[in-house]
Amino acid sequence: MSALQNILEFNEKFVAEKQYEEYATTKFPDKKIVVLSCMDTRLVELLPKAMNLRNGDVKVVKSAGAIVNHPFGGIMRSILVAVYELKADEVYVIGHYDCGMSAVDSNVMIGHMLERGVKQETIDVINYARIDLKEWLRGFGDIKTSVLKSVDLVRNHPLMPTGVPVHGLIIDPETGKLDLVSDGSDKVK
Ligand SMILES: [Zn+2]
Repeated sequence: MSALQNILEFNEKFVAEKQYEEYATTKFPDKKIVVLSCMDTRLVELLPKAMNLRNGDVKVVKSAGAIVNHPFGGIMRSILVAVYELKADEVYVIGHYDCGMSAVDSNVMIGHMLERGVKQETIDVINYARIDLKEWLRGFGDIKTSVLKSVDLVRNHPLMPTGVPVHGLIIDPETGKLDLVSDGSDKVK
């Protein structure tokens, strides 16, 4: 049975048995927090548990490496929507140690694209359109530098309202221990 079939079968049972009832809440985050974290598998349950966050407490945005890599991209837009429309008034950017994104080599990844059937001429056209594919796909060397860069981008975004602290943290994907790398409360505009 495929993963999709497994999921749909489980889902039918989940709904029929009303297992959803214990998760009932609203779309507004009770703790008024928006969290940006990495899509890493180890954080799916660990991160909310380690922060004492339950269903309904927070808005969660995920990206590879917890990176905001464009001031007008989808991640930044999600954070702005959470702040302006969904009543979040604090932002947490949470990277993690041993992040897969730190090891991403854009040259190797482009090689994998070619192996999987993407044509070299497609890569050339994208580069010709002045999209820096290597820069776009590039991983980061140091998690702390990367978190601080994303924090800085969110904190100083021209559309961020004043009075919204943006914090930077790094979580240990094994123990769940959080290290604070930037306390946004000190820097609220
Ligand atoms: Zn990661």
